[in-house]
Amino acid sequence: MTEPMHVETDVLVIGSGGAGMYAAIEAARSGAHVLLVDRSLIGRGGATVMAQMTVAAALGSQAPDHWTFHLHDTLQAGRGLCDERLSRLLCEEGPDCIRQMDEWGVGWARKDGRITAAMAPGHDRPRCVYVDFLNTGPAVSKTLRAVVNRTPGIRKACDLLITDLVSHDGEVMGAVALHLASGAPVTVAAKAIIVATGGLTRLYRRNSASANMGGDGYALALRAGAPLTDMEFVQFFPIGHLAPRLIGMDPIMWDPFRYKLGGRLLNGLGEEFTSRYGSREDGAYVLTRDLATYAIVKEVEAGRGSPHGGAYLSFEHCPEAELRAAFGPVIDRLARNAIDLTKMPVEVAPIAHYHMGGVAADARMETEIPGLLVAGEAIGGTNGANRLSGNAVTEALVFGRRAGRSAASRIAGTTSQPFRPSAARAALDLVAQKGAPANPNSADMIQRLQSVMAEDVGPLRTREGLQRAIARIDDLAEELGERPFGDGRRFDMRRIDWFDLRNMLLVARVVAQAALRRTESRGAHQREDFPGMLPAWGVNQVARCHDGRIDLTSVPPVQGLAAAQ
Ligand SMILES: Cc1cc2nc3c(=O)[nH]c(=O)nc-3n(C[C@H](O)[C@H](O)[C@H](O)COP(=O)(O)OP(=O)(O)OC[C@H]3O[C@@H](n4cnc5c(N)ncnc54)[C@H](O)[C@@H]3O)c2cc1C
Repeated sequence: MTEPMHVETDVLVIGSGGAGMYAAIEAARSGAHVLLVDRSLIGRGGATVMAQMTVAAALGSQAPDHWTFHLHDTLQAGRGLCDERLSRLLCEEGPDCIRQMDEWGVGWARKDGRITAAMAPGHDRPRCVYVDFLNTGPAVSKTLRAVVNRTPGIRKACDLLITDLVSHDGEVMGAVALHLASGAPVTVAAKAIIVATGGLTRLYRRNSASANMGGDGYALALRAGAPLTDMEFVQFFPIGHLAPRLIGMDPIMWDPFRYKLGGRLLNGLGEEFTSRYGSREDGAYVLTRDLATYAIVKEVEAGRGSPHGGAYLSFEHCPEAELRAAFGPVIDRLARNAIDLTKMPVEVAPIAHYHMGGVAADARMETEIPGLLVAGEAIGGTNGANRLSGNAVTEALVFGRRAGRSAASRIAGTTSQPFRPSAARAALDLVAQKGAPANPNSADMIQRLQSVMAEDVGPLRTREGLQRAIARIDDLAEELGERPFGDGRRFDMRRIDWFDLRNMLLVARVVAQAALRRTESRGAHQREDFPGMLPAWGVNQVARCHDGRIDLTSVPPVQGLAAAQ
């Protein structure tokens, strides 16, 4: 077997989205030596760089606001399941991170010299700051990349796929990785590890995220013994672009259009329909994502969908001058796709977008496993059963900063175990060994998993469908086997797919199993066979992995808003 390259650091940060970069900056500023790694390019691989517009924070710079109002809206959207301690941190510390990003030159949009904010569904007042209506994520990433680059004490490594965490006596001490560009195995010794790997939306056929969002962090943490929470709550973005074909533009690009101009959501018969599902949108944009998703899926189910199986989004009532004033060059880019919004609606449908569930952590972002921390979308519980627009980027910034500080204080205050190569042996064998003799079509297997999830673990679920999904996931896991595909050379896609599938199948099973066990409908989890929200289910589900088996238990949500330490 090729000898692994070995690297040592104080803090290993896995993932360089908003959460990972902020964590690295904060840990290094607190005196730790940091290694920031990503399976993609640093600061360009995940959802942060794709985020469009909204970053929710009760700055109150334009209209009076307070973090307690933001918290109230967040808890309301979470349908009783938020970890109130985490939600409070998100809302209370959000404004400070926004101001720090401002000092770092992110360029938040301003009116009369003050940071301005947009109104978004579920928020009771304009609270979402932005840079530009389509470029907030790129600006956030660029700013953090610049700060990472000028902060002493941060080393960076891209193209490094972390495949397993290494632990001994219940404490993490490092990780094993595959260097994608060379195929070389790598071991990293670290006194603290921050998992900032983002979400899981690649599990679904139609998703808004990058190819790196297959839920790696959830699987890494689970295999290392850390519990996951709320895994049944996958957020579908209701108005993902469906038709006509749109090239070179983001499938969730209609969101900012709706913030600015409202737009009308129509069924296949040309009727506004959300009032059937208890909303009064009437051309405005007020419906939260879980309810809008439900309304669209139900219209399609009733045979009133648009031709491609979604709903129409129409701006035909808006004069061209208004559209152009709001969106300038975007109108020309749409025209190049033969879309003239003054004359035609577009078709939209729910698309997997964000994950409310994730690794369970406390207010210091520490998991149950000593030395293992988590930040950003990888953490579970903050948003309960449904997330408000704009809360995800704030979550990445606030929790990244907290995780960085906690990791640095941990290494200053405790003696960690030295790295034990023997504890890394099994994981290294997987990375470095010769491939299985048969090489199934791994890309096809990923597509089959995505179909299973889309068909049976999507926005509307049933017992029968979920049981079928679990059986099909188990069949795929058997097909995957325990020996990696491919020959392990540079950029070996089969090997990468094998490691991706290993994580995706584990995480998909947890999502499906948790969805099957929750026999009610709440927020983003809607059961056709259990349509109501039940008080008895006002609990979080916690998933643990024992010998490859997933065990679920119910625990009451963390309540009470005691200030976090
Ligand atoms: C298209 C789109 C638009 C969005 N718009 C908004 C918005 O307007 N407002 C809002 O609040 N939220 C928005 N979101 C959600 C928000 O962007 C994310 O929730 C947030 O940015 C997540 O940040 P993160 O740092 O936790 O993860 P990410 O930014 O996703 O970063 C995770 C990183 O981990 C890396 N990684 C993953 N696995 C591994 C591994 N095994 N080894 C090494 N590296 C790994 C990935 O390559 C990636 O770079 C949007 C999401 C998408 C997809």
